[in-house]
Amino acid sequence: MYQTYGYAAQDAGSPLAPFEFQRRDLREHDVRIDVLYCGVCHSDLHQARNEWRNTLYPVVPGHEIVGRVVETGSGVTRFKTGELVGVGCLVDSCRSCPSCAEGLEQYCENGFVGTYNGVDRVSGDVTFGGYSTMLVVDEAFVLRVPENLDPAAAAPLLCAGITTYSPLRTWGAGPGKKVGIVGLGGLGHMGVKIAAAMGAHVVLFTTSASKIEDAKRLGAHEVVISKDPEQMQAHANSFDLIVNTVAAQHDLNPFIELLRRDGTMALVGAPEHDHPSPQVFNLIMKRRRLAGSLIGGIAETQEMLDFCGKHGLTSDIEMIKMQDINGAYERMLKSDVKYRFVIDIATLKQ
Ligand code: NAP
Ligand code: ZN
Ligand code: ZN
Repeated sequence: MYQTYGYAAQDAGSPLAPFEFQRRDLREHDVRIDVLYCGVCHSDLHQARNEWRNTLYPVVPGHEIVGRVVETGSGVTRFKTGELVGVGCLVDSCRSCPSCAEGLEQYCENGFVGTYNGVDRVSGDVTFGGYSTMLVVDEAFVLRVPENLDPAAAAPLLCAGITTYSPLRTWGAGPGKKVGIVGLGGLGHMGVKIAAAMGAHVVLFTTSASKIEDAKRLGAHEVVISKDPEQMQAHANSFDLIVNTVAAQHDLNPFIELLRRDGTMALVGAPEHDHPSPQVFNLIMKRRRLAGSLIGGIAETQEMLDFCGKHGLTSDIEMIKMQDINGAYERMLKSDVKYRFVIDIATLKQ
């Protein structure tokens, strides 16, 4: 067993605080990773505070993890000591159901194992995430991080990157397509960068007028203040795809009205309280689709990392000390982050 230092929430009402625990001895296909950086996803906050009502305490959040391999199990073939690797939201799945067979482990019909707040399929232990000094993960769920990318700025690709890349790929973002991204937070700013790199015409919807210039710098061709009905109306019936990353309950109708015939709005934001049901006629009259999308499978996550390596795409980050995590959560709730907090895990090792 390996002594590990992390930060955990003990219950929904308490701030995160130092927490010591053991990582398991290596199984045949396990890789042991020295964690360097971990991104701070809004899902970490949702789960630390039990907003999805499924948190197992204590919870050590963190699923945007970059580190270096320090030890490999006897059966490991894909990774060597010293390699720069990533771990995202998944650390295991059943590997035999139709979804797993298709490489869609996130939709595993027997339930995937989350990097944290999951239950290990072998030991039954609750999994602990990347707000920690060390990780032990089966090599099948470890990703290769392109060495040309800054490792700290690459960490958010493991969730924010793949969660936007996957629906953009699924619904065909590319040249000649008009794509909307709703919300300029961690997910949204990666959505803008990736959709622009795919060659789509990108429109960013924001509630924050202060983010207009940033959105353009990040690659948006147009920016719309979503609270302004006139600006919204100018885009009626014109979008092929809208990826909605908003982390709070809101009215979906104003966005659905912007879809062209057969257009799709994919929801990826996972708010504590459901959105009110949209108007049925808004969907019927133009055969519009309202969809959802969950992170991405392991193969697609590697494809996304390679795409980002090729295009030199990383997250715009603000590096924080582990000790500053609770203040970072408060700022995230105020949409006051440009555009992803990343924890320097060295501050936890001191
Ligand atoms: P984030 O950094 O906090 O960004 C969310 C953005 O949503 C904010 O920056 C803000 O953008 C907008 N927003 C926030 N409150 C709003 C409100 N009341 N009305 C309208 N807009 C609002 O969060 P994130 O890390 O990107 O995560 C976004 C959501 O996706 C979270 O719910 C998270 O749990 C979920 N998520 C889902 C998946 C998945 O697989 N489906 C994966 C990861 C995360 P503006 O200031 O530009 O308006
Ligand atoms: Zn996440
Ligand atoms: Zn499965």
